[in-house]
Amino acid sequence: MEHYTNAAGRALAWHREYRNQMSQCRFDTIATHGVYSIQEALDFNQGSIIEPVYMATSQAYRDADEMEAALGYQIPTWCYARIANPTMYYLEGVLALLEGYGSGLETSCIATSSGMAAIQSAVDPFLVADRANPGKKMNFVASTQVYGGTFQQFSIRKDKERLIEWRKVINTTDIKEWESHIDVETRFLYGELPSNPGQAFFDIRKVADLAHKYGIPLIVDSTVATPALLRPLCHGADIVIQSVTKSLATSGFGIAGAVISRKNIVSRIDNPEMKADFATYLKLLPNRDNGPNLSPMNAVMALNDIRTIRMRMDTMSKSTMKVAGFLNDHKHIERVEYLGLKNHPLHELASRYLFLVDSEHDEQYGKPVNRYGHLMSFLIRGDAKMTREVFNAFTRIWRATDLGRIKSVATIPAISTHSQQGEEGRKLAGIPSNLIRLCVGVEHPDDIIRDLDTALGVLDGKKVYVSAPEFSAGGASSARLRKDCQ
Ligand SMILES: *Cc1c(COP(=O)(O)O)cnc(C)c1O
Repeated sequence: MEHYTNAAGRALAWHREYRNQMSQCRFDTIATHGVYSIQEALDFNQGSIIEPVYMATSQAYRDADEMEAALGYQIPTWCYARIANPTMYYLEGVLALLEGYGSGLETSCIATSSGMAAIQSAVDPFLVADRANPGKKMNFVASTQVYGGTFQQFSIRKDKERLIEWRKVINTTDIKEWESHIDVETRFLYGELPSNPGQAFFDIRKVADLAHKYGIPLIVDSTVATPALLRPLCHGADIVIQSVTKSLATSGFGIAGAVISRKNIVSRIDNPEMKADFATYLKLLPNRDNGPNLSPMNAVMALNDIRTIRMRMDTMSKSTMKVAGFLNDHKHIERVEYLGLKNHPLHELASRYLFLVDSEHDEQYGKPVNRYGHLMSFLIRGDAKMTREVFNAFTRIWRATDLGRIKSVATIPAISTHSQQGEEGRKLAGIPSNLIRLCVGVEHPDDIIRDLDTALGVLDGKKVYVSAPEFSAGGASSARLRKDCQ
C-alpha cells in the first residue's frame, strides 16, 4: 500500500505545482488550457491536444492494495464515475481556477448534473440537524429575486415539504433587511446576482461581511455574470453556484452545473472536513451518496465552450448594451431592465463589481472596463396579450426558455421559467406578465435590433410575415406533425 500512497503523493505534488503555475497565467490562458497539460497529454493521452473523454463507469486497479487505497481516498482515484471521472476533473479544474482568478485564494470545484443540482448540493450540507438544539426549526435567508427553479426548490422542496424556513429578502440592497432575518438557527445567506431575469444586485462585500459576523456562509449564484465579469469569491463569498448550462457552455449541447468554494468557509456547523474544503467534501461524501454527478460528455462540451468565455462575454455585453439603448428609446417599451443602462437604479452598484476580466491587460482597452452581460429584460407598454403578439413576431430571435446561448433567445418568464410559482410568487420575484427576457447572442446587434423593431411594429397594426414552411430542410415539418396529430 505504501508504494501507492508514496506515488500518489508525488503525483499530487506535481499537479499542485502545475495548478499553481497555471494560476499565474492570464484568464484567457487558464480558460483555454485549464489544468490539462502537455506533459499529461504526452504521457497518458497519446498526445491528444484536447482533453480526453472517458465514458467508462469505473476504473480498474492493479491489485487489492491499490483498490483499498483508492476506495479509502488515500490516493487520487476516480474509482466510479458517480464520484469522479477524468473528464469531469478537467472541467472542475478550470472552473476552480477561473472563479478564483485574481483573488489569491485556493479554490476547488465540483461539477454537477445541472445548475439546480449544484444549488441543492451547495445548500443541503448546511441544512442538517442541530445536535445542540434538536427539534429547533432551521432557516436560511435568501433573496426572492432568484431563478424560477431556485424559487421552487426553496419554497416547495425546502420550506413547504421539509419545514426549513426560507426567510425572504425583498430589497437585497438593504443590509438591515438581510440582518433582521438572521438568528441562531440561520444556516446561510443566499443571493443571485445579477438575478435572472430581474437584474437584482446587491453589495456582495457587505452581505459577505454580514454573514461572517454571524458565523455563516454566503452562497452566490453567479450564473448570469460568469467568471469573465464577476468572481464573488474575490469579494468575500464562500461558495459560488454556476449553471454551466448557460453562458459558460453557450453552444447548448447539455445541462451542467458547478459548485466552487474557497478553502476554510465560514459555518457554525461542526464539521471540520466540510469547512476546510467544501467542494471536495461534497464530491467525496454527500454527492457520492446522493449521486447528482455530471456526464463526461457534457463535461467536455462545457470545457470546449469555456475557452472563449471572456471574448464572448465582451462581445455579447457590448451588443446587449446597444440593443438595450435602442429599446430604452422605443415608444412601445415601458421600461428596460439592464444594469448597463445609466438610468437603472442599480447601475452604480453593479458598476463597482461587473468588469470584463483582464480588460486592463487588453490592447484594445488598457484599463478596467465595465461589462454587464447579455441578459436583459424589457416591459411592453401594454398587456399580456400585446406582449405575446410582439413575442410571436420575432423571426431572428428564438422563442425558448433558455439563456446564455450563442444565438439570441427570448422568453416570457411569466408563462415559462416563472410560471409554477403563481401570481403571488411572481410579484415577489418582480415578474409582470408584460416582461420579455432577452439574451443577446453573437449575431450582429443591428440584425437583432431590426428583428425587435419589426416585431414591435405589430403594435402599430403592421403585419409581420411569419410563415412556417410545409416541409423543413430536414424533411418532417412541425406543420405536418401538427396535422398528423389532429
Ligand atoms: C438556469 C439557471 C439555474 C439552473 O440551472 P440548470 O442548469 O438549468 O439546472 C440556476 N440559476 C440561474 C441563475 C439560472 O439561470
